[in-house]
Amino acid sequence: MLGGDLIIIASAIITMDDAAPRAEAVVVHTASGTIATVGSVASCRAAAPSAPECDLGEAVLLPGFIEAHSHPFLSGVVTQPPAYWIAPYVGYPAWDDVATLFRRLQTDEPTGRPLIFNGLDRLLQQVVEPDNTLLDGFFPDRPVAVFDNSGHEVYFNSAAIDFLGWSATAPADPEGARFGRNADGTSNGRAYETAGVMAVAGPLMASAIGHPLFSAAQWYALMAAGGITTTTDMTYSTPYLVGYEALAAVPDCPLRISLYHMSTEADADQPLSCGLPDTMIRKQGIKLWADGSPWVGTAALSYSYLDSAVVRGAGIPIGPSGEAAMNYTREQLDAALDHFAPLGWQMSFHVNGDVGLDIVLDAYERALRVHGVTGTDHRWRVEHLGGARSDQFPRLAALGVFASLGPFQVIYWGDLLDGELFPTEIGAEWMRFGDAVDAGVCVSFHNDGSVSPPTPLLNIQTAITRRTPSGMVHGSNQAISLDAALAAQTIDAARTLHRDHEIGSIAEGKLADFVELSMDPYRAEPTAFCEQVQVGGTWRGGRRIDLAGFLAEVRAIDPAAHAHLARPAQQCH
Ligand SMILES: [Zn+2]
Repeated sequence: MLGGDLIIIASAIITMDDAAPRAEAVVVHTASGTIATVGSVASCRAAAPSAPECDLGEAVLLPGFIEAHSHPFLSGVVTQPPAYWIAPYVGYPAWDDVATLFRRLQTDEPTGRPLIFNGLDRLLQQVVEPDNTLLDGFFPDRPVAVFDNSGHEVYFNSAAIDFLGWSATAPADPEGARFGRNADGTSNGRAYETAGVMAVAGPLMASAIGHPLFSAAQWYALMAAGGITTTTDMTYSTPYLVGYEALAAVPDCPLRISLYHMSTEADADQPLSCGLPDTMIRKQGIKLWADGSPWVGTAALSYSYLDSAVVRGAGIPIGPSGEAAMNYTREQLDAALDHFAPLGWQMSFHVNGDVGLDIVLDAYERALRVHGVTGTDHRWRVEHLGGARSDQFPRLAALGVFASLGPFQVIYWGDLLDGELFPTEIGAEWMRFGDAVDAGVCVSFHNDGSVSPPTPLLNIQTAITRRTPSGMVHGSNQAISLDAALAAQTIDAARTLHRDHEIGSIAEGKLADFVELSMDPYRAEPTAFCEQVQVGGTWRGGRRIDLAGFLAEVRAIDPAAHAHLARPAQQCH
């Protein structure tokens, strides 16, 4: 069959191509991995008379889902074995559950073995901000690092402080990040923001994670099981390239990847030099973290948290945090844009708070003007936008700025946001899908792994219903149509990655990347969407992906070649 054509027939094909939204069959050219024909069964048979046929029966075929904002390598190493994933929605709803695991591991794990945990959520699990003293109570001798679920903080014990060689004093703060200190300058077992988190976690993970490539492959498999065929890495640094190349070289690799280089890396302005086709691995842009996370009180917000037991219990400052929560001054944001914009890179700034978004849009507007980019098809991005105000979306649209939104903030925190963290008029409408779509902004969705598991169908269900898993509805006026929600995981996500010419819809000439769904999403009950619509499998480049085969192949790769990838990127500043 190599080099020939294959006809795939499904009970329906939802193309996400406005010119022909529905089809019955598709002809795939297997050598190039592209789509040759889309149409009726008869027209496909006429176009490829001798081609074998693959009939998917009741399955409905869509373009493969696109995860517009993720951290797949890092997600694998921090959540998959031998690391421990302790997020509230993967079996640890309360701090007691985490503490029970801590005590068991201290007993069961060999003496001195370092341990990595990811997913602590102070709000949902109701625990004060840990420090070395709290963690020493569980782990008096072995080095331990606990990542906050937001990824914006890491907590570590005294054995880890010794392991880092920081016993005398914590080092100077990296750019856009800081280390927690006691009054005498010693580390208190806390680090904040990406560069700080990685400076702590890197050396510990290097000694704790034995086969980082396999850790990453396990996260790839999770994404593929969710129907994803293209992802991004929003924490890219050059040392990861060899890992992404090794994964992409496996025939059953389920994912293509677009890379966004961390702005703080010394070579972030350089083009990618990669031996694989750029349909598999592409460097797309530059990533910067303008503010922090609403779950730990570091988003730049114009409004205060409610003075509630939940907020107090998580140790979140009531606020308003305002501009003080920014990781960069306005001048530093301008300088970063002045460096990267003339080189043509797409910019992508993390920003959760409304004050943060005002400042980022001011910086974008200035840089677009100064560098002659205003009015061009630049597609500069802003990420998450949970706390954005309604009036900010028309400004995004006017500037041509794309919004990548995180339905996971509503899924997991929606019940707390509405009335516990914020008054209802703010909390219910947190993550404004409706306002963004109504303003004409190009919207993509993401799960931001490892902040939440990769679940495009749950994102879609949440966007069309504004219902959380508890059954509560928050801000029904921010619900969007199924058309818009599907687009945010397919064609509009492809636009966000500047890849709509090759992925995101099922159309002639595009790459043959598909997701098989168990039923037509337009026939599903919105409130039971995820129970009724399930992922049956994915295709990349006309090949039906064998995930077990992919995992077995990666496991067999000698871990020595990728040992350094256990260590998150070393920062240069
Ligand atoms: Zn992220």
